Amino acid sequence: MTDKYTQFVSQGLGRDIAKKLGLPQPVALRRHKPGDPLLTGPVLVQGEGIGADELAAALLAWGLDVRRNALPKEKLGAIVLVLDAVEHPDDLGKPVLTAGASLRDLAPNARLVTVSRTASSAATPAVAAARQGVDGLLRSVAKELRAGATANGIVLADGVEPTSPSALGALRFFLSGRSAFVDGQFLTVTSAGGALPDDAEKPLAGKVAVVTGAARGIGAAIARTLYRDGAKLVVVDIPAAGDHLAEIANEVHGTALQLDISRTNAGQRIIEHAMERHGRLDIVIHNAGITRDRLLANMDEGRWNSVMAVNIASQLRINEALLASGRFNEKPRIVSLASTSGIAGNRGQSNYAASKGGVIGMVRATAPLLAAGGGSINAVAPGFIETEMTARIPFATREIARRLNSLQQGGQPGDVAEAIAFLASDAAGGISGQVLRVCGQNLVGA
Ligand code: NAD
Repeated sequence: MTDKYTQFVSQGLGRDIAKKLGLPQPVALRRHKPGDPLLTGPVLVQGEGIGADELAAALLAWGLDVRRNALPKEKLGAIVLVLDAVEHPDDLGKPVLTAGASLRDLAPNARLVTVSRTASSAATPAVAAARQGVDGLLRSVAKELRAGATANGIVLADGVEPTSPSALGALRFFLSGRSAFVDGQFLTVTSAGGALPDDAEKPLAGKVAVVTGAARGIGAAIARTLYRDGAKLVVVDIPAAGDHLAEIANEVHGTALQLDISRTNAGQRIIEHAMERHGRLDIVIHNAGITRDRLLANMDEGRWNSVMAVNIASQLRINEALLASGRFNEKPRIVSLASTSGIAGNRGQSNYAASKGGVIGMVRATAPLLAAGGGSINAVAPGFIETEMTARIPFATREIARRLNSLQQGGQPGDVAEAIAFLASDAAGGISGQVLRVCGQNLVGA
């Protein structure tokens, strides 16, 4: 699925014109389809130390074609740059430059993934400098890669090994076509928890998942993706969207719950429905959200209050009900929709950005409350995604917003859904309180 401009500049005259004028030349991204191989070429594991050796062995066990040294002129599917043992900025040069020499050999839609350790708890300034250096390095390389290739990083918290379940889970996600629109981002593995699935194609088998705002857009894509990954679905939306909701429920063989999530008893209604119809509740995706844009100077109480009520207050209330219910305590997973507007800010969206910044704060503070039961909560922050919401933006503004990221195109609802499906899985059990951006590495703002 590509936009018309991308189709135009992909071949013949269009490609020549774009090249001559220096126009963006986005390519069709490699997106996961069941049965697809994880990668389409060999993976080069760069770096010294036990971490690199162990990761190379793990990749070999997945059936990948693993190299520890680049072969001349061979097209690579991915480079995994293991930097978990760096202790001084001087340690970065050799492995980074060696990996750099292979960047020209990356195949289209290839992957670069760094594995490093968190700088925040480094023992000395030199260790912190080396670790934080990986941040700037990775974000720059991501901006240099072309032809659908992406660069993302895994950051290990103290005591978490490179081969811990969620480090491997994150590595698999970043290498695969599931992370097509995730670029220039880091995921911190916060604990050694989590477990890799028996069947990589059905990581959510046996789980019951609730998706709010599922009648259309990103929510509908989330429902489809969780269903593909093996989950049983409860799809939620307002009564006015009942017909579309019923269609989605049928499509994913799930059940529909017509509910305004800003109702005070929404949490109880969700729990009751899941227990009565499916006998359990494992995953809640807070996707329902609204915009009521106005410059702050023109903002009225109605716009401000409705956005805060739907986008954050309802999530807080539903989470409280979930935590108090005693029915959501076996490795529960919550994933909440934030937005890059809530990180970088956006003109005319002070209410929306406040609510989405609120989601990020809520996720961070809720993570410890879920930890006891092996639970996790994370946020996904989409950038420009092709939906009815963004189709309403005036043409010129839309075209700029769509191109101003490292992949030079808008993301698809399914790209957001893939990140959510990963964070909802057992493989991500060691990742909590984090924000993952699905924005193609937005070039504007943070
Ligand atoms: P959308 O407007 O297409 O769909 C939102 C759905 O939520 C609709 O079906 C709507 O009926 C439902 N909803 C709204 N209020 C509700 C309520 N009170 N109770 C129950 N359901 C309710 O939006 P979308 O583009 O699919 O966005 C989904 C989420 O992703 C939102 O949280 C949005 O803020 C976020 N997001 C979207 C983008 C983007 O580019 N589209 C970017 C960043 C973040």
